[in-house]
Amino acid sequence: MIDTTAEPLGSICYITLGCAKNEVDTDRMRSLLSAAGYAETDDASAADVALINTCSFLASATEESIEATLELADEVSEGVRGTKIVMCGCVPSRYGDELPAELPEVSAFVRTDEEDAIVGVVDRVLGRERAVPAFVPEVKRTVEGAVAYLKISDGCNRFCSFCAIPYIRGRYHSRPYREIVAEALDLVDAGVRELVLIGQDTGIWGEDFAEDVAGPRNLAGLLRALAAELRGRGVWIRVLYLQPEGMTDDLVSAIRDTPEVLPYIDIPIQHCSARVLKAMNRTGSEEELEALFARLRNEIPGMVIRSTALVGFPTETDEEFERLLAFMDRVGFDYTSVFSYSQEEGTRAARMEGQVDEETKIERAQAAQDLAEALGFAATAAHVGERAPVIVDGIEETEDGVELIGHAWFQAPDSDGAVHLDATEAAVGDIVEVEFTDSFCYELVGHVVR
Ligand code: SF4
Repeated sequence: MIDTTAEPLGSICYITLGCAKNEVDTDRMRSLLSAAGYAETDDASAADVALINTCSFLASATEESIEATLELADEVSEGVRGTKIVMCGCVPSRYGDELPAELPEVSAFVRTDEEDAIVGVVDRVLGRERAVPAFVPEVKRTVEGAVAYLKISDGCNRFCSFCAIPYIRGRYHSRPYREIVAEALDLVDAGVRELVLIGQDTGIWGEDFAEDVAGPRNLAGLLRALAAELRGRGVWIRVLYLQPEGMTDDLVSAIRDTPEVLPYIDIPIQHCSARVLKAMNRTGSEEELEALFARLRNEIPGMVIRSTALVGFPTETDEEFERLLAFMDRVGFDYTSVFSYSQEEGTRAARMEGQVDEETKIERAQAAQDLAEALGFAATAAHVGERAPVIVDGIEETEDGVELIGHAWFQAPDSDGAVHLDATEAAVGDIVEVEFTDSFCYELVGHVVR
């Protein structure tokens, strides 16, 4: 049992780079360190340890992570506490062996699969000895605000030829149902109103369970069971990162018929050309994808669709790229993230013949981005005049004072824009009924009706 009246053992400053999965991982390390007696500070140079959780999804993200670490080292070198730097996450997972020589400023490197041992690492870095617990204590998440990411799986078995994630995060493993529900209930008890289910490949959740594991065994079952546990508490459930093949009839009906689950789907297609998809080590064709999105729109009224497009993949021709644009336009994605292909060390695509030159990649990415914005801005503007519930996320300062910011069910937090509210009389976590009066880019302006 932790003595909460005791002096903290030291203070930690947390810096998170990259995606929502990293936020969840940082949050877990924060909870473990807090349970072990460490306090938190926002000021890195006043901390005993600055913990930086890094991203290595793309070469550019790796560079940014290294730069941020070097800047952090500069910043703490001016402090008086001799702050130690601990680098966690995807960069150590991907480049672990090379890092100690390259980054002598860093006291310890922690791979993603070692993060549950963070207390021992921090103790060691600070020269403290303690008996190592034989188990990892169950800790409560320490989320602030109305939205929380809930990790249902980690790793990936797909090995898309352009992607380094399976080498960084390892093989796919589903999180046990009971653990997911317990964390969801804790988060809702702490005031969370929206749970965003994440993983590299959420659609195959449960498929790796042994035969005798009790409880739901696929994503559709998980959504139904989780929603039942939370029923009556006014919680929204959103699922991100579904792969096209994972959209079974059962999953479509679970999304359609479970009131807590939002009719919002995030399906990264990457491309529509069957030839490019095959070279990416993915499956599907333009016809199959088109049929999938038509089915989703038919079967789930008001369905909002987010996707991801990867342009400039090796051997992608001008014609294939143009077909991708035409496809995006026809399907009319509400939101699309566009990535320009990046030659990632250690991946199969990096060794392929027919790499597309940088100038062409930039041009294609710009054209796809322009289209994504045109579609996204139009989808956002189409909500003007509608009424919908909005979760209040926070208060922002503006030139004219302060305004409340929230997001509607059709906007994934941190990704799809926000709603600017005309009221100041609401608290973070309230769900208010809003009439949308205007839009700009991905943002909406709304009048609080009640
Ligand atoms: S599905 Fe493909 S792109 Fe996504 S994490 Fe797995 S390997 Fe990477």
